[in-house]
Amino acid sequence: QAKADGRGRVCLFAPEMEARLHERKALEADLREALPRGEMELHYQPLLDAQTLEIAGFEALLRWKRQGREYVSPAEFIPFAEEIGLIEQLGEWVLEQACFQASKWPNHLFVAVNLSPVQFRQGNVVLKVLKALTRSGLLPQRLELEITESVLLEASDLNLAALNQLKEMGVRIALDDFGTGYSSLSYLSRFTFDKIKIDQTFIRDLPAGGHAAAVVEMIVDLGGRFGIKTTAEGVETDEQLHLLQQLGCSQVQGFLFARARLPGDLQFTYPRQKELLAPALG
Ligand code: C2E
Ligand code: MG
Ligand code: MG
Ligand code: MG
Repeated sequence: QAKADGRGRVCLFAPEMEARLHERKALEADLREALPRGEMELHYQPLLDAQTLEIAGFEALLRWKRQGREYVSPAEFIPFAEEIGLIEQLGEWVLEQACFQASKWPNHLFVAVNLSPVQFRQGNVVLKVLKALTRSGLLPQRLELEITESVLLEASDLNLAALNQLKEMGVRIALDDFGTGYSSLSYLSRFTFDKIKIDQTFIRDLPAGGHAAAVVEMIVDLGGRFGIKTTAEGVETDEQLHLLQQLGCSQVQGFLFARARLPGDLQFTYPRQKELLAPALG
């Protein structure tokens, strides 16, 4: 209910804030129950070799079917899960599921798992990864971990040590959403990533002829100098693909190839591979 302040004006903030607080409480309660209720699903989106269009692996992407309604986007609930201290539990489930699924795929395919910077705070992330690998029997060489630069920003020495241990185990580390952070370049000299994922905002603007192509070219060249592979995320058109092939990008990912799907619906070859690789006619 609106309250009148000292000067007789009506303050409209209180009920609005109350409603928002209530909504947050409900969201928190539902999110805490999501795993036990079986509402969490891991979907998988393919990453393809940019030149051959062979599928190289899949990225695991979390989906929440809240109370049987439509899916809630991870962009919405992951930050919230981080806030309420639920991401460790969720992240552990994701690791276990992803490794287990990948262990049933053909051996040449890898699985990429997104890790929240919060998962590095407890200091046991290496152990969790090791556990997921051991329990599933998946070779570490078939696991790729995607982190954002914030992992190197926070508690950097400890996190750097964890990343190095993971690398020594044979797990690959990819730098996600490259180019969107504060000082992406400085992180490349602090840790030897196996892969850079060029953020989709740059791919979206291809090939309009603006600066996006120049930025992508620069990142691919940079990767080449460091011996780091580059993946373009968010590829949606043939035109974007052809430009990325010309620029020498290593891998491509996007709705052009496939959206994220449930494990049972995955295809291990890309149906348009031959068509798109055929030399242009005429
Ligand atoms: P991300 O890791 O950068 O994942 C790529 C996002 O781009 C995914 O969104 C994917 O569905 C979307 N995408 C892929 N291809 C295209 C395309 O061609 N066009 C467009 N417009 N979008 C495309 P999604 O699944 O909604 O995930 C959003 C973010 O949530 C992810 O960004 C990642 O940061 C986070 N996330 C997802 N799953 C997990 C998880 O298991 N753990 C953690 N910590 N974060 C996760
Ligand atoms: Mg990712
Ligand atoms: Mg990304
Ligand atoms: Mg992203």
